Amino acid sequence: IRRRNRRESSYSRCHPILQRVVSARPEGAVVTIDTTTTTAPTGAGTVRGARTRTSRAPQKPNAQWKIDGTTPQNPVEAFKLEDDGLNVRRRIEEVYAKQGFDSIAGDDLHGRFRWWGLYTQRKPGIDGGRTAQLEPHELEDRYFMMRIRIDGGQLTTEQLRVIGGISTEFARDVADVTDRQNVQLHWVRIEDVPEIWRRLEAVGLQTTEACGDVPRAFLASPVAGIAADELIDPTPQLRGIVDTYIGDPSVSNLPRKYKTAITGHPSQDVVHEINDCSFVAVEHPELGIGYDLWVGGALAAVPRLGERLGAFVPPERVVEVWYGVTRLFRDYGYRRLRNKARMKFLLADWGPEKLRNVLETEYLDAPLPDGPAAPEPVGAPDHVGVHKQKDGRYFIGASTLVGRVSGSTLTAVAELAEANGSRRVRTTAFQKILVLDVPEERVDAVTAGLEELDLSVHPSMFRRATMACTGIEFCKLAIVETKVNAAQAITQLEQRLGDLEPEIGRPITLHVNGCPNSCARIQVADIGLKGQLITDAAGNQVPGYQVHLGGGLATEGRPEAGLGRTVRGLKVPADGIADYAERVIRRYLADREPGQ
Ligand code: SF4
Repeated sequence: IRRRNRRESSYSRCHPILQRVVSARPEGAVVTIDTTTTTAPTGAGTVRGARTRTSRAPQKPNAQWKIDGTTPQNPVEAFKLEDDGLNVRRRIEEVYAKQGFDSIAGDDLHGRFRWWGLYTQRKPGIDGGRTAQLEPHELEDRYFMMRIRIDGGQLTTEQLRVIGGISTEFARDVADVTDRQNVQLHWVRIEDVPEIWRRLEAVGLQTTEACGDVPRAFLASPVAGIAADELIDPTPQLRGIVDTYIGDPSVSNLPRKYKTAITGHPSQDVVHEINDCSFVAVEHPELGIGYDLWVGGALAAVPRLGERLGAFVPPERVVEVWYGVTRLFRDYGYRRLRNKARMKFLLADWGPEKLRNVLETEYLDAPLPDGPAAPEPVGAPDHVGVHKQKDGRYFIGASTLVGRVSGSTLTAVAELAEANGSRRVRTTAFQKILVLDVPEERVDAVTAGLEELDLSVHPSMFRRATMACTGIEFCKLAIVETKVNAAQAITQLEQRLGDLEPEIGRPITLHVNGCPNSCARIQVADIGLKGQLITDAAGNQVPGYQVHLGGGLATEGRPEAGLGRTVRGLKVPADGIADYAERVIRRYLADREPGQ
């Protein structure tokens, strides 16, 4: 608490936005900026894990624009209102890229840059024990992480080659395939950003709104339009939204980040339960194929699964409904406290009925018909392996090693695909890469080529089901290393338990996070590991993980998603992931009941 108070008071004293807003206000104008972070919004106690409020002091308004007005209540809201994040692009091109890192204004560097997919990365060599002790600027390097937005994971081989080339030339050949179908680069210099944008945009890619309080890159079924068993191809709806609203100022200042998912595949392959707004294909008995609308899912420190609104969305109304839900969030979302601003808190207070009612009466042209729930998922959502497409050709899904690849590897994938008659590649929400449109006679060649690139078409179940976030290598919030530890654990588990795979039967998901956020979705893994400092036997603080157990999203054989339980007091040292996972798996095999 002492540390937090110190940081908050120094933040409010020094934050340039606060100083600028206050000093620039017109004579007599009142600027109210509330930086307190101690009170939960009304009803937040209904969110699983949220603390209930015991004070009798009256609750403060949640700073909902449509109810409380637009006066900013914290520094982030202040800078967003003062100058939209999208506007920083011009300054990057005309000033910062020419004059260098030191010319960048603080509120642009730590705020608006995100609207263009740019974060400063962590300075090398700062251990996780100091993450909470240092100010953000003391943790940051002079290089950037750049997130390339790949809506639906849909790429041409030409686009993949351009990304690979940029990684090799400007980002020390590092590239991460994320669990939101994006590619992230590291080591990017501000001087190179305009040229990177030029190359990306020349092939139809963008970093627009890849981060920030905006509609982030859309998850969409990676087998959209090709899978023999899909109910509907969501690509027209996906493109309809992205091409109309990404970069549109009407939705570029949301209360917080905003995630969307859409799928027409029976495996429900877009983790729809943990997105702010999701569309899941379903067949209506009278109206045909359309989408079941979900709202309000998100993880992080206070995880909450989304809920169905019970509404059926015909394909031709998806764009309208998405825009309606998004504007509802813009207008009614909570803007006072950053850690209570996601859509899930509004849903927790309102409930699905009220939310649907407001959506239909204030934001849509007409009410939505009631609709059925989508049936239980069928098939593996990561699409690993060789699969026949509806046109008779094949798509081949390969597993990265916890998402880390390189620019050279991406370029090689593009060349491999083209050499075998393919021009299309997809990324998945499970850190996998798919090569599409492979003729039957070229399947073996592509499979062998991917394996040579360490992209495994027939991975062990441990590799297939393990994900890791960026971690301490680049992330300023990290406390613990993730990708290296998770990769080591995969190798150890393959050696120790490889011969038990048939007995285990289905992959046991192992997700590793470097801090209490949930970029690797720890609460929806069989074994979720949350990075933190733990106390070793000698009483020293060392890097380790808090264990979460038993979470999972809906999948074949498990119709209901559920959040894992935090097993209090159960911590694993950073180098002990495999030891712990092995104990859990052996115990599970020994104790499980038939059918479990
Ligand atoms: Fe960084 Fe934490 Fe997200 Fe990992 S979970 S990428 S450490 S913020």
